[in-house]
Amino acid sequence: MSTEGRKDSTEAGSSSRTAAGSSAAADQQQASAALSRYESQKKRDWNTFGQYLKNQTPPVALSQCNCNHVVEFMRYLDQFGKTKVHLHGCVFFGQPDPPAPCTCPLRQAWGSLDALIGRLRAAYEEHGGSPETNPFGNGAIRVYLREVKECQAKARGIPYKKKKRKRSQLKGNDEDNQPKLLP
Ligand SMILES: [Zn+2]
Repeated sequence: MSTEGRKDSTEAGSSSRTAAGSSAAADQQQASAALSRYESQKKRDWNTFGQYLKNQTPPVALSQCNCNHVVEFMRYLDQFGKTKVHLHGCVFFGQPDPPAPCTCPLRQAWGSLDALIGRLRAAYEEHGGSPETNPFGNGAIRVYLREVKECQAKARGIPYKKKKRKRSQLKGNDEDNQPKLLP
């Protein structure tokens, strides 16, 4: 019987494979997976935004779309958010790690909105929109995002720092951006 011997050699083989696992090829594969995730997310976001404009009364043509529509769109998305943002009256206002649940609303995290606007801004120009009139690049959007960021930082007691982390950190930004449009 050589079962024991075979088992031993398999284990040895797998552990040496693990040690050699962090190759450049794996890194590259991860990067291209992240890129295609970005592309498909961008496509989804663009469709969601187009649907949103169509659902307005009266419907808004893309050529008429301005930064106010974009801000309204971000407010609309809050109902699908997963980030607890405490109201001023809440006892947990400004606490990064509240000890109990509260009834404060869930919102889109600032980082999610920021990433979303970046994708939509690119999509707008890919669909023939001019960079000069790109509503996603409008200064009013930057102002709105900055306000959201500051408000959430205060309410949640979490200072937003510039994170210089590994690629895996990028994933976090997408969490809230899965809006499901009601039929
Ligand atoms: Zn609260």
